[in-house]
Parts: sequence; structure tokens; C-alpha cells
Amino acid sequence: MPQIKRIMVAGGAGFLGSRICENLVEQGHDVICVDNFFTSQKSNVTHLLTQPNFEIIRHDVIHPLYLEVDEIYNMACPAAPGHYQYNPIKTMKTSVMGSINLLGMAKRCKARYLFASTSEIYGDPEIHPQPETYRGSVNTLGPRACYDEGKRAAETLCMDYYRMNKVPVRIVRIFNTYGPRMHPYDGRVISNFIRQAFTGEPITIYGDGSQTRSFCYRDDLVAGIIKMMGCDQVGPINIGNPNEFTIKQLAEIVIEMTESKSKIIYTDLPADDPKQRQPDITLARKHLNWEPTTQLREGLKKTIDWFRGIELSHYRPPTP
Ligand code: NAD
Ligand code: UDP
Ligand code: UDP
Repeated sequence: MPQIKRIMVAGGAGFLGSRICENLVEQGHDVICVDNFFTSQKSNVTHLLTQPNFEIIRHDVIHPLYLEVDEIYNMACPAAPGHYQYNPIKTMKTSVMGSINLLGMAKRCKARYLFASTSEIYGDPEIHPQPETYRGSVNTLGPRACYDEGKRAAETLCMDYYRMNKVPVRIVRIFNTYGPRMHPYDGRVISNFIRQAFTGEPITIYGDGSQTRSFCYRDDLVAGIIKMMGCDQVGPINIGNPNEFTIKQLAEIVIEMTESKSKIIYTDLPADDPKQRQPDITLARKHLNWEPTTQLREGLKKTIDWFRGIELSHYRPPTP
């Protein structure tokens, strides 16, 4: 019987956080979801309230919070470009001030602290695929910088609390992830394409569609994150699926799988959009004995089935 821990999941109502909460509740841990619901629906986690080992606190992590915990997962940050650019200053505050407060809590409680970093810290990479040793190529002045630089500063804070205060930190760099509970209006490519395919709107490819991404299914990713919390490595460790696709290929697969009549249209590529991205997961294989097992079509089927079951009008589009 594993030891029961009190675990806080900041950003626990989100796409990834809610799945982490579900897994930890199922393992019998005492789970506290902390979220301000900026980019998430309460319905992602309210079903867990029937469990005696789950609770929700509405709180914004830029403010201090005092709880007694054994582990902290810091997932709190808007993740999609449309969401994190809505209020870029708040995005930076969430990464930096949120990290300081939660690391402060980890220090006081002697809790283990996992930080959800991102492949975006590599920017528009000059090295392909990206190993953890690559230091990145981020435009500090562009519209994506609030997210990328916020996450880079948060990684620095993790390492300084580790060196100065012996906080046992774990850093994961998450690559593009998809699955049920993605926000249908988050503006990310998979949610856009599936929504457009269902509503018959044109499928919007930005640029010529030759840019690539490597998409990891949610449940594979969450398994890797929970393994990272349990391992003896500080990281950073990349977690993602190395199978790479062009955005045009993705559009064609989604049209085929949804049997949609939507046509593809081509529009301008956003500023600083990375041309290619693929994780090198050698370290995750070695230290976590982890690799993704869900193929794109298999994960897309589950995601498409989930989109079919939701009521789009219940979701708020990000305000431009
Ligand atoms: P999400 O937007 O669904 O989840 C983020 C959660 O954090 C939401 O519930 C949101 O309401 C909450 N939140 C935002 N600001 C907050 C604040 N100031 N105080 C409290 N709660 C706040 O996004 P996600 O895809 O689940 O991402 C979770 C984490 O993983 C994020 O930190 C993100 O940067 C990281 N990540 C995600 C991906 C991906 O592909 N999904 C890739 C790389 C990194
Ligand atoms: N903090 C928090 N919860 C805690 C402990 C600390 O929110 O349980 C906040 C605290 O308000 C402080 C920040 O975390 O601003 C950093 O804490 P730390 O102990 O590192 O710094 P200090 O209090 O010495 O400035
Ligand atoms: N993209 C696209 N059409 C869309 C949304 C996104 O062609 O409707 C492209 C986008 O320009 C990028 C890729 O798909 O090249 C992935 O975009 P997403 O926002 O999902 O993730 P990120 O750029 O953060 O990796």
C-alpha cells in the first residue's frame, strides 16, 4: 500500500491538471485543486467532489497561500497562445509570482515541487530534435515572450530554491499535448481543426502548413509527469511524443477522421511561430522508464469523440 500524501495541484482544474487530480485521487491521495478558473471549466473537476479525498480552492497563485502539503504540482498558467496573450503581463506574473509563492510554500512545508515548464523555452529552435541541454532561441520582445520568458524565469527560480533552500524540485518540459477537455476555443491547432471540422467552418492553416509539431496524448503525458514527481531527478526532462507531423498532414487527418466537408484555407503565419518542434526523450526513457504509447490517430479518435459530446455554447471563446 503506497503512502498517502496530501498533494496540491495548482491549475488543477485545467486540461492537464484535472487529469492529474483524477489519477492522484484514484491512487488514494488527499488532493487539493487550487485554481482561479481563468482558462478552465469547473466541470473538469466537480465530478471528483463526490470523493472524500478531493477538494477545490478558488485562488490566484500570484497571491500567497498557506496550506500544509507534501507535494505540489505547479500547472497554473494559461497555455494556449490565445489565452496567454489575452493579458501578457498577467501571464508573466502567474509564472514568476506564482512560482515564488508555491516554492515558498514548498520550502516551508519541505514539500516536493514539480514545475510544468514547456518546449516553448526552446523558442524557434536551431537544433532538431531538442535535447534538454539546448538553451533555446527565444525572441524576448515578441508576443510569445510573456509565456516563454515567464517559464524560463520560473525554471531559474526552481533551481535557485533547490540550491539555496534544498527544495526538492522536479522540472518537466512539456511538448504539445492534446486530448479530451482541451478548451475548444483555446486557439490551439488540434482544438481549432476539430471544432472547425464539426461546424463545417474552413480549416485554418497558418502559413503554408509545412511547419511541424509532435503531439502527445494527454494520458501518456500525465503518466510521465506523475513518474517525474516520484523519481530522483531534478530535471529538466522533456516529456512529449517524438512522432512529428506537418500542420497540413494534421489538417488532412482530422478532415478524414471526422468525415468533414470543411475546406482548407491558408492564412498568415503568426509572429515568432516555431518552424519545427520535436522532443528528444532520451532522458525520460532512461530516468523515468517512460515513453508515449498512444498513436496520433488513436488519441485523435478519443479527442474527437469527446468534442462530439460537448455543448460548444457552454465554452467562452478567448476575448481578442
Ligand atoms: P489549461 O489552461 O487548461 O490549464 C491551466 C490552469 O491554470 C487552468 O485551470 C487555469 O484556470 C489555471 N490558472 C491560470 N492562471 C492561474 C492563476 N494565476 N492562478 C491560479 N490558477 C491559474 O492548460 P494546460 O494545457 O492544462 O496546461 C497546464 C500547464 O502545462 C501549464 O503550466 C502549461 O504552461 C503547461 N504546458 C502545457 C502544454 C500543452 O500542450 N497543453 C505544453 C507545455 C506546457
Ligand atoms: N509563501 C506562501 N505560502 C507559504 C510560504 C510562503 O505563499 O506557505 C509565499 C510568501 O508570501 C513569500 C513567498 O512565498 O512571499 C516566498 O517565500 P520565501 O520563504 O522564499 O521568501 P520570503 O518570505 O523570505 O520572502
Ligand atoms: N495553427 C494553424 N491553424 C490553427 C491553429 C494553429 O495552422 O488554427 C498552427 C500554428 O501556427 C502552429 C501550429 O499550428 O504552427 C501549432 O499551434 P498551437 O497554437 O497549437 O501550438 P504552439 O504554436 O504553441 O506549438
